Amino acid sequence: MTDIEPVLSESDPRASIAQRVFVVGAGIMGSGIAAQCALAGYPVTLEDVNEELSRRGIANATRALDHAVQRGKVAASDRDAALARIDFAIGLRRADSAQIVIEAAPEDLALKRRIFAELEPATHPTALLATNTSSLPITAIGQDLKDPGRLVGVHFFNPVLQMPLVELIPGHTTRPEYLERARSFAVNLGKTVVTSRDTPGFVTTRALAVLVNEAAWMLYEGVATKEDIDTSYKLGFHHPMGPFELVDLVGIDTTVSILDVLWDGFRDSRYRACPLLRTLVAAKKLGRKTGEGFYVYPTGKTGGP
Ligand code: NAD
Repeated sequence: MTDIEPVLSESDPRASIAQRVFVVGAGIMGSGIAAQCALAGYPVTLEDVNEELSRRGIANATRALDHAVQRGKVAASDRDAALARIDFAIGLRRADSAQIVIEAAPEDLALKRRIFAELEPATHPTALLATNTSSLPITAIGQDLKDPGRLVGVHFFNPVLQMPLVELIPGHTTRPEYLERARSFAVNLGKTVVTSRDTPGFVTTRALAVLVNEAAWMLYEGVATKEDIDTSYKLGFHHPMGPFELVDLVGIDTTVSILDVLWDGFRDSRYRACPLLRTLVAAKKLGRKTGEGFYVYPTGKTGGP
């Protein structure tokens, strides 16, 4: 993890953009993306399948912005203005007023296809459709769309407010003007943009998956304790977090889904998920978001570092 990038303040001219952003899925990423967009001046609607989850997303966005204020990266007045720009919705009906729609639902191809099939008729025909998938092929996510040219992979990193990178992935049928709109949007959020071809895991997730899976295999084989493996990665390679700290932050379920996508895409044993990861998923120990993964997190410390 790198240090927080400066975010746009109210006085920044880029903050006057009034395009509405609709975020589907108010989990770890959706709430962070909503906070980031609101901070950059976009009105945001955060949507989930029921009111409790949507409200939890707003609470997580609030916590992320509070944390940025505590770290001196955002002024309290900018946080308050950002929070005033975020509201929540249940269902996709209100997506019709958005120019930018970002899907941040779980890493499940069938689910994402279903969401976009519902989103397409519910949105303005020129709205940018973005998916925050970390590994699934963009072309496959958009395959049931009448106009897949609007769909772009816009991959944020966790925690969104602190991570300066956005990885853009055009699908096979993405139109260049939509890729460029996605690029301008990410730049307006203050992010540095890289582009990857639409291959499983793109650049970043492919690299991450191998790194954390190898750590899990070493633990499984009894090579070292999780603490020593984490310390080895941190002090040996200058990684800001150890692999088990990272996988707890990302979500162990999400990590297994990613490895399965890479396995399906490449059929290469490098991507065979360690059984230890699957056991933790079956035990519902998914990492910070459930309070326990490889490590145990006291209540209130589950949202991010
Ligand atoms: P999460 O489980 O924290 O959140 C997903 C949210 O989507 C949940 O609140 C869930 O209720 C909601 N949801 C499920 N079905 C829905 C539907 N039909 N409509 C609306 N909402 C629905 O997951 P996350 O970690 O935020 O991951 C979301 C996406 O972002 C995944 O594609 C993941 O691969 C990607 N991603 C995750 C990370 C990370 O570190 N966690 C980083 C980058 C990208």
